[in-house]
Amino acid sequence: MGSIDLPQTQTVALVRDLGGAVEFKTDYPVPTPGRNEVLAKVLYTGVCQSDLHTKSGTAAGPDGNPITKIKLPHIGGHEGIGRIISLGPDITHGNGLKVGGLVGIRFSSRICRRCEFCLAGTEQYCVQSTNHLHHEDGSFQEYIALDADYLTVLPGDVDPVVMGPVLCAGLTTYKAVLNANVKPGQWVVVVGAGGGLGHLAVQYARAQGALVIGVDTGPGKGDFVLGIGAQEFIDFAKEDPIKRVQEITGLGAHAAVVTAGNAKAFAHACEMLRVGGSLSCVGIPPGRPCLETPICTIVIKGLRITGNLVGSLKECMEAVDLVRRGVVKPVIKVRQFRELPQVYEEMEKGDIAGRVVLQIAQ
Ligand SMILES: [Zn+2]
Ligand SMILES: [Zn+2]
Repeated sequence: MGSIDLPQTQTVALVRDLGGAVEFKTDYPVPTPGRNEVLAKVLYTGVCQSDLHTKSGTAAGPDGNPITKIKLPHIGGHEGIGRIISLGPDITHGNGLKVGGLVGIRFSSRICRRCEFCLAGTEQYCVQSTNHLHHEDGSFQEYIALDADYLTVLPGDVDPVVMGPVLCAGLTTYKAVLNANVKPGQWVVVVGAGGGLGHLAVQYARAQGALVIGVDTGPGKGDFVLGIGAQEFIDFAKEDPIKRVQEITGLGAHAAVVTAGNAKAFAHACEMLRVGGSLSCVGIPPGRPCLETPICTIVIKGLRITGNLVGSLKECMEAVDLVRRGVVKPVIKVRQFRELPQVYEEMEKGDIAGRVVLQIAQ
């Protein structure tokens, strides 16, 4: 165990019932790291749309129905950056874990390491996995116990303020770009390019050498999207984005990454693609809308369609490294832990540009 005296209680943002309010509790127990665990002090955490969905009881499972097996009371947060302050009783020197090291608190919390998906390096789909969104308390608390064997160990020189959103929003968009299989010089359309996910998708696509067309609307969005490296910007409220993409690319885009939570945007993106193009689905529209693209279009154009749910730990480290080296720059706004209820309200109204990061440790 570490030698510092740990507090017994901590402040957490608790949700007692799905659909209920966020309540700050100041006497919640600080977890004791068990076998194969470390205890981390949470420094910063991003706030993801899926935290809001889980709290509200509107998170959809693979069958499209709401997820009902959510741990209650629930503590959200799965884009956290923490510092190890204590090691579990069986963790010894020599395994690379040390007090003071930076770690990530991600969506995936524990995996089995033996199932087909774990063995294939796609452990985010592990059949026995648990996550910090539905099964375990997440980063909206001051202290967290983490599985040492599946720990996201971060390099010591990363900026903990900006790195949180990379662990979910960044990883998901990085994976979406990888799944689009783009080559240098090919055209990638990012729909929702000015948003929290979209602005990262633009930069990860640029990092792969792609030429990016950002699609979004609203004041200042064009300058913002062009400023982070997109070659072109289309304001879909002012011009027909499908026609414009065809004009820019000739035959259509090679890939589209759709981060918008609007079903129509996915069908429109298919129309922007050239023969053999790929659609990477990232956004999850509310309810259970279907992709409206006719099957004949998908068949005749030979389109490839992928769903993107975060990525593996290895892919996470690649996404982190691109930020560490300054190739990708997350745009974030730092708020205080206690502002989480207001942040949720603003997210519901769609008032948030970029990504909010809460400062947890004082
Ligand atoms: Zn997330
Ligand atoms: Zn597994």
